[in-house]
Amino acid sequence: MKISVLSGKGGTGKTFLSVNLAQVAKDSVYIDCDVEEPNGNLFLKVPNPKIDMVDVLVPVVDQDKCNGCKECVEFCQFNALAYVGGELKIFNELCHSCGGCTLLCPQKALKEVERNIGKVESGFSNEIKVKSGELNIGEATGVPIIEKLLEDMDSHKNNIVDCPPGSSCQVMESIKGSDYCLLVIEPTKFGIHNINLVYQLVKLFDIPYGAVINKDMGDSKVAEEFCKKNNINLLDKIPYNEEIGKLNSNGYIVAKENEDFRKIFENILGKIQEEVQQ
Ligand code: SF4
Ligand code: SF4
Repeated sequence: MKISVLSGKGGTGKTFLSVNLAQVAKDSVYIDCDVEEPNGNLFLKVPNPKIDMVDVLVPVVDQDKCNGCKECVEFCQFNALAYVGGELKIFNELCHSCGGCTLLCPQKALKEVERNIGKVESGFSNEIKVKSGELNIGEATGVPIIEKLLEDMDSHKNNIVDCPPGSSCQVMESIKGSDYCLLVIEPTKFGIHNINLVYQLVKLFDIPYGAVINKDMGDSKVAEEFCKKNNINLLDKIPYNEEIGKLNSNGYIVAKENEDFRKIFENILGKIQEEVQQ
């Protein structure tokens, strides 16, 4: 089973939900697809992780063969190529590795070379398998890293995917093939605005979904109305609690530390499993 955990923005509690669900699920894999800011490893510490570098193909030009026809420049949808000062310039950070320019160059002046954009770390944190992606600063897209993270997923295990925040193409890549999407809602007007964008995206995929309101202080009426209006199954409201806050901000997994907190996540996971099995 693949459960994707989503939020409209950082700081909503997406990683909090993800690591705690991974803690209470049996035979679980925690996959951190928030490659621009992976922080699941603050909770699920992996001693001696295996590191796999993630490379993409980018073009290089042989200026002696290039005659300046600019066909490649016109072809590139990402403005990664420019012909200035009598030579072709390539902006690697903008290149999406489609390979088109190399294929179409009439002079065969382009060839592809590997370029590193980040890495994937994997290992075990006690009994939980952990995979975490990290995109190098300044890179245009983490999609190749997310593809690598999800390429050999075992559907017999409980895969908990900590998605990037928002509704970018990285989020779309992360939720492909999910059995369930869990929206984590911050009960503020700003929070509702942000989660609505994610909800609109999730609706496009034919995947069951539900929501959890995090840090409920008894003032979640707007968030509850949002769920009701959009027919989103509200699985639970996690109360604002000082002890939860302290444990979480010190890198503890609350479901591991306190039996009452553990029950909250077991309850959420149970409801998800019930919906998926229907
Ligand atoms: S298509 Fe080939 S020859 Fe034309 S500008 Fe690009 S690299 Fe140069
Ligand atoms: S590989 Fe594709 S994205 Fe990259 S420079 Fe060439 S045409 Fe542009």
